[in-house]
Amino acid sequence: MRADVVVVGGGPAGLTCGEHLARAGLKVVVIDRRETPNKGKPCGGMLTQRAMRKFRIDLETAEREIYGVAVAVGDRQFNVDYRERVGINVDRTRLGLHLAERVEEEGGVVVRGKKVTHVSFEQGAACYVDGDFKCEAVVFADGVLSLSRRVSGWRWGRSQLGLCAQYLVEVGENIVNELFGCRNHFYYGGEVAPFGYAWIFPKRSSLVVGVGALLSEVKTPLKRYLDQFVRSHPLVAHKLKDGKVIKFETALVPLSGIIDAVCGERWIVVGDAAGAVSAITGEGMYFAMESGRIGAGAVLESYEEGWRKTGEYSGRLRRDIGSELRWSLWLRNFFLRRRLKGGWGLDLSSKRLQRLISDLLVGRKGCRRVIAEALPLVVLRAAKARLGFLRKR
Ligand SMILES: Cc1cc2nc3c(=O)[nH]c(=O)nc-3n(C[C@H](O)[C@H](O)[C@H](O)COP(=O)(O)OP(=O)(O)OC[C@H]3O[C@@H](n4cnc5c(N)ncnc54)[C@H](O)[C@@H]3O)c2cc1C
Repeated sequence: MRADVVVVGGGPAGLTCGEHLARAGLKVVVIDRRETPNKGKPCGGMLTQRAMRKFRIDLETAEREIYGVAVAVGDRQFNVDYRERVGINVDRTRLGLHLAERVEEEGGVVVRGKKVTHVSFEQGAACYVDGDFKCEAVVFADGVLSLSRRVSGWRWGRSQLGLCAQYLVEVGENIVNELFGCRNHFYYGGEVAPFGYAWIFPKRSSLVVGVGALLSEVKTPLKRYLDQFVRSHPLVAHKLKDGKVIKFETALVPLSGIIDAVCGERWIVVGDAAGAVSAITGEGMYFAMESGRIGAGAVLESYEEGWRKTGEYSGRLRRDIGSELRWSLWLRNFFLRRRLKGGWGLDLSSKRLQRLISDLLVGRKGCRRVIAEALPLVVLRAAKARLGFLRKR
């Protein structure tokens, strides 16, 4: 089969890229190894309102609409609720179907149930995908363990990856409504996860209960942390005691910021494969779709100019989302350092700080803005503490 562009991987990144390329009139083939693209992708499922709005995601993909967050540090918890919806917890299979339909509506082809094993490039001419597809360019959108690594030689460091373990726990719709409602729950503290956090995201009648940590810091199986969280966390254990675990899964997530190796002659990398995930919130779907959109623009221009411009993708990606992801790394490292010194040292009783943390978690504000707005609060608190100390002396 001949195509202008083959996209390897039909997750949010690949399908968004495919949709944009097909809309622009290119002959696009998106290939996913699953019969239903992206089916069973391990995920908390929180799709922020900014992602819904920008990529016109159908509400039909939602398992639950989200209007707020609950954040716990140790055994202290605060809630922040909004008047308007801040996101949805999606069913990833439905999201995959929705995005695949959109590719097809634009005239693209989605090949289902085919695992790509080999991509080769004939210098200055064409690309071959598994010998079945001949195309002008390839978009790698195949997730964190992307085939692009064979072309680029990219290797993840252990400190650039997060390891996640999660349960899907059936508790019934009444319990979900009563105990979790329309809030996504985040839990922090050294006992929860080594350099990471835990989450409970409510679906319709079940809960996604997960723990994520920096891979380089995981010394004992993460499932132990997850089990301990479920059985013993003071704010959680009693709520989950009658739940039935119906699925357990583990997965890697990039926490690197945009990687160096995102493009070459006739190929680009998008989504998780390119490191497009926030290191502080773990939000990946929005950045995957954004990188897919940016990637499509770069491929299109390159197509029109005889494939001379794929190199410009790197700069655009870094400019449009790379800076936000770099700040997310800075913030993550700030909290890691603080934790090593014992505690975050933040006054979490401050309503303004609570709101800022929440805005960050639901993607209403970017990292840089949150840092800028939180800084005066943190400095003020430190000054007050110092003053109190001097008075006592
Ligand atoms: C436990 C966990 C919880 C998360 N929670 C959230 C959350 O709540 N909100 C959020 O925004 N993000 C979350 N993320 C991150 C988010 O899931 C990812 O960032 C996002 O899915 C990346 O999209 P992608 O299209 O780049 O890759 P993927 O979604 O991984 O899609 C890659 C696709 O490529 C296909 N594929 C792979 N190899 C091949 C091959 N060789 N041939 C053909 N097809 C192939 C796969 O079948 C898959 O469909 C979470 C991640 C994890 C691990």
